[in-house]
Amino acid sequence: MSFSDLGLHDDLLRAVNAQGYTQPTPIQQKAIPVVLEGRDLLASAQTGTGKTAGFTLPMLQRLANGKRPGKRQVRALVLTPTRELAAQVGESVAAYGQHLSLRSHIIFGGVGQQPQVDALRHGLDVLVATPGRLLDLHQQGHVDLSAIEILVLDEADRMLDMGFIHDIKRLLRLVPKQRQNLLFSATFSNEIQTLAQQLLDNPALIEVAPRNTTAEKVEQAIYRVDRDKKRDLLAHLIQRHNWFQVLVFTRTKHGANRLAVQLSKQDIPAMAIHGNKSQGARTRALGAFKSGDLQVLVATDIAARGLDINELPHVVNFDLPNVAEDYVHRIGRTGRAGSNGEAVSLVCIDEHGLLKNIERLINQTLPKHVEPGFEPDPNAKPEPIENGRRSQRPPRRRKQDGPSTNTGGERRRRSRR
Ligand code: AMP
Repeated sequence: MSFSDLGLHDDLLRAVNAQGYTQPTPIQQKAIPVVLEGRDLLASAQTGTGKTAGFTLPMLQRLANGKRPGKRQVRALVLTPTRELAAQVGESVAAYGQHLSLRSHIIFGGVGQQPQVDALRHGLDVLVATPGRLLDLHQQGHVDLSAIEILVLDEADRMLDMGFIHDIKRLLRLVPKQRQNLLFSATFSNEIQTLAQQLLDNPALIEVAPRNTTAEKVEQAIYRVDRDKKRDLLAHLIQRHNWFQVLVFTRTKHGANRLAVQLSKQDIPAMAIHGNKSQGARTRALGAFKSGDLQVLVATDIAARGLDINELPHVVNFDLPNVAEDYVHRIGRTGRAGSNGEAVSLVCIDEHGLLKNIERLINQTLPKHVEPGFEPDPNAKPEPIENGRRSQRPPRRRKQDGPSTNTGGERRRRSRR
């Protein structure tokens, strides 16, 4: 099947060609016709499946077809949980819509609001936004959502995990009742199903293989090591195998900072991204990493969620995540869209229970290695894991650029991780 079989306009096909895509991915094959028809959609698809183009291409086509003369009004709203995901979706909207006369803009917290206010005043067709800043701007009278025709909730499960449910409900009261709704979520928890029932009208259901069944493209390996040797082992592995573009996950912000400093001291250029970093610092680090100037990017789960970094060769779990599903999200950064990747986890004795949970979830026993010179102490005793989430469920309100408050400024909305 080709993109032209899906009923997309030439203007969109040209933009898709320019991206170098030759074939639609499974989610695109299923979602594009449904969205073009104007139906509501409930899709289970994670980052890496091509879901963004799956909703953006048909959304742009519908907007272009239904364009009316007169003043521009915001007719499509895409909500995302994080600034990074908003930026990436916004870039996709701009890239796929490059031959259409539609205007889009990205709205998120942590940066000055004036450019966003200016863009809104100028007139927009598509808004890609995180809920907190969007509500702030609405309260200040800068956004009119009364002409929304298409509403997209991207990574809805993550939005609920991050405590955005009240913001979403407030936003739902501001958009017209008659509209097309698209809901994307990696999981179908009870909460997502409740939200779907409230939001969607007779939706088409689409499921594409979750990452935990497609992860064969990712070579996975476990290195057993003592907790205080992890840093040296990581530096050793990076240098010995000459790894470039390594995305390293840590459990905490402090851990991310410490590790980035340590690696840099060992002549391995590294930077950390997490919710306490300014937007500018995060964008700079991500840019340097994407362009290949920065060898190692150290990130917490929440900062890395939804990052679109193509064909990433190496992902390292410096700490195993406390929530087994996060392992699947992490290694989903590599081996994407047909390219191979390698995911290495450094596991100390404290983490054996976490490793078991992960192996149960992905239904695989992962190969275990011991690197010569880094043999774990057979008499080591496990210690409790600190600063991590202990339960299998994420906390209700994990604020990154946070649910809005009536009086709240963005500076107070900081990640807790
Ligand atoms: P997403 O799941 O939307 O984050 O997309 C994952 C990655 O796949 C992005 O880097 C896209 O540019 C890329 N991609 C999307 N659609 C296709 C396609 N049909 N062929 C190849 N790559 C694609």
